[in-house]
Amino acid sequence: MAIRINNIKLNIDHSEADLIVAIEKKLRLPFKKVKDFEILKRSLDARKKDKVIFVYQIELKLTVDEKKIVERINHPDVQMAKPKKPVLKLLPGNQGLQYPPIIIGAGPSGLFAALELAKHGYKPIILERGRDVERRNKDILHFWRTGELNTNSNVQFGEGGAGTFSDGKLTTRISDSRIDQVFHIFVEAGAPKEILYEHKPHIGTDNLKKIVYNLRRKLIEMGAVIKFDSLVTKLVIEQGKITAVEVNHQVQIPAQVVVIAIGHSSRDTYEMLYEQGVKIQGKPLAIGARIEHPQQLINEAQYGKFAKAPQLGAADYTLVKKAGEGNDDRASYSFCMCPGGVVVAAASEKGMVVTNGMSYFSRASRVANSALVATISTQDFKGEDPLAGVRYLRKYEKKAYQLGGGGYKAPAQKVDDFLDGVASNDLENIPFRPTYRPGITPTDLHLTLPDFVSESLEKAIVEFGKKLKGYDTRNALLTGIETRTSAPVRIPRKEDFQSENIEGLYPAGEGAGYAGGIVSAAVDGIRVAEHLIQTYQRPREEV
Ligand code: FAD
Repeated sequence: MAIRINNIKLNIDHSEADLIVAIEKKLRLPFKKVKDFEILKRSLDARKKDKVIFVYQIELKLTVDEKKIVERINHPDVQMAKPKKPVLKLLPGNQGLQYPPIIIGAGPSGLFAALELAKHGYKPIILERGRDVERRNKDILHFWRTGELNTNSNVQFGEGGAGTFSDGKLTTRISDSRIDQVFHIFVEAGAPKEILYEHKPHIGTDNLKKIVYNLRRKLIEMGAVIKFDSLVTKLVIEQGKITAVEVNHQVQIPAQVVVIAIGHSSRDTYEMLYEQGVKIQGKPLAIGARIEHPQQLINEAQYGKFAKAPQLGAADYTLVKKAGEGNDDRASYSFCMCPGGVVVAAASEKGMVVTNGMSYFSRASRVANSALVATISTQDFKGEDPLAGVRYLRKYEKKAYQLGGGGYKAPAQKVDDFLDGVASNDLENIPFRPTYRPGITPTDLHLTLPDFVSESLEKAIVEFGKKLKGYDTRNALLTGIETRTSAPVRIPRKEDFQSENIEGLYPAGEGAGYAGGIVSAAVDGIRVAEHLIQTYQRPREEV
């Protein structure tokens, strides 16, 4: 048994001794009666700008009768902890499996599916179009330096998937007991331990690269096979059943079970799936641009007089303008906020500019950036097939490339010019160095966005300024364009996780429309793997 204490409120500059005193106060007991304690959650309460505090949730064991203590205190903040749910052992299924499971994609979804399978004795084969994280890192730095893009090894593709060159935010809207499992695997692979209790955990790209490398080693130790530079170019389907996958238009690997975890940017693969008759569906999208502010401005808006407090780190924000708000029938929102980060060139196709954001664990760049996007419904790009959304996004990414002047330079515009409807000719008044590499071209972003999106973004900037002081400063910078907030299609699956029309094909993660973000993609990969384990025996030669 254990006791859970909620609502321990402490100043941001508190010491460990202050935490102990606060626990003693809540328990009305000396700390020497505490056998063991663990921080479950630490969140920041910054609602009152003159009194920003940390709020803790603690679980502890006592040397005395815990029930009696809880009864004596008789306060909702001090409760007996609910017993942890026992981890259910998966019962292996009895259907025969002739070949090792194949996983397409080494993003969070594919990697966590592979880890779960390997933990249960299966030896999955992971096929990844991109390179291992060490070579991928070099390719990306080369792209940012020179504007020479490798279409298989970039911010979207390669070991670790799309989130490797990111802020590594681990916040998620899903609620699932597997989240804990994902966090512990990250920590075992080298993530900072505080992700286990911070309310808004993040890892940073520097840690993510190490973690991805360590996960690979772990997978290989457990018998998994990882093949890089292995683009799946065809699914061999016979009578509605998958029988093999083709790699790089050359070799075929026999397959009975294929987890397809390709992320949101593998458009050529979506085309291949569509051509082969795999059921896919178009879905709503979002388009916009990255907005950069001085980080200090965001810190001041969020933390008031504590803006410079080192304990708080760089502040973030989440902003939403619902449809109908601000005299606009379209919703807009901030997305993937990267405090103290950089705007990154995230293209994966030739001649198209795509932006995104990334931070190191320290979040120390002094520039805050996030996507500012407006929603696009399927009616906006009326198309006859499910790939209409992909064509729509490409059209605007190409415009951005042309407007940037080539070489993957991104079109950018000062916020004051954007609101005034005039092109930017310079970067005067921008109080920071724009972070996008290989560089930006001051211009008029309206030329690369659908008109209704530009209008929505203009209104959103004004509305968001009312919610976050300074957001609407005219000395901020917009860099375009942002098109990869989610997958443009879904690969629908049945209750048994198989594709609606292809037996043996298991769509997973963000690319299939079942996740949005690192954690939910990882959780979805685990769910699919659990189902496979409960359905199939391990291949005979592996038992
Ligand atoms: P992905 O991570 O996209 O992985 C899919 C993998 O499949 C890729 O490695 C790709 O190369 C491979 N692949 C695709 N097609 C094929 C094929 N035909 N053959 C072989 N391999 C193939 N999310 C967060 O939660 N927090 C963040 O801070 C965050 N920041 C981000 C920053 C950036 C720059 C980007 C691009 C994304 C960010 N995201 C973030 C989103 C997050 O990365 C994704 O939600 C997550 O990676 C999805 O996981 P996934 O495994 O489903 O797909």
